[in-house]
Amino acid sequence: MAQQHGRRSRRVFIGAAIGGIPAALLIRRAAASDKMTKPQAEYQDTPNGIYACALCTLFVAPDGCKVVEGVISRDGWCNAFAAVD
Ligand code: SF4
Repeated sequence: MAQQHGRRSRRVFIGAAIGGIPAALLIRRAAASDKMTKPQAEYQDTPNGIYACALCTLFVAPDGCKVVEGVISRDGWCNAFAAVD
């Protein structure tokens, strides 16, 4: 019985090692590379006229963005700005 449990645990471990962990790493890598860098987006820490990250649908409070990586200011702006309706 204990030997059977040991085989099952090994199978679960090997399955995770072969299938689960690489998949998780790929997902994490894809998610990281999906975002633009600040220079690519021509991000600036100041508004563009009346337009600012706080008014963009892509802003993620308190200091993130769905499409630009890094810390994003509510008062910033970039060329991917998408106004809230
Ligand atoms: S203006 Fe650019 S950096 Fe700011 S929230 Fe929108 S997409 Fe992100």
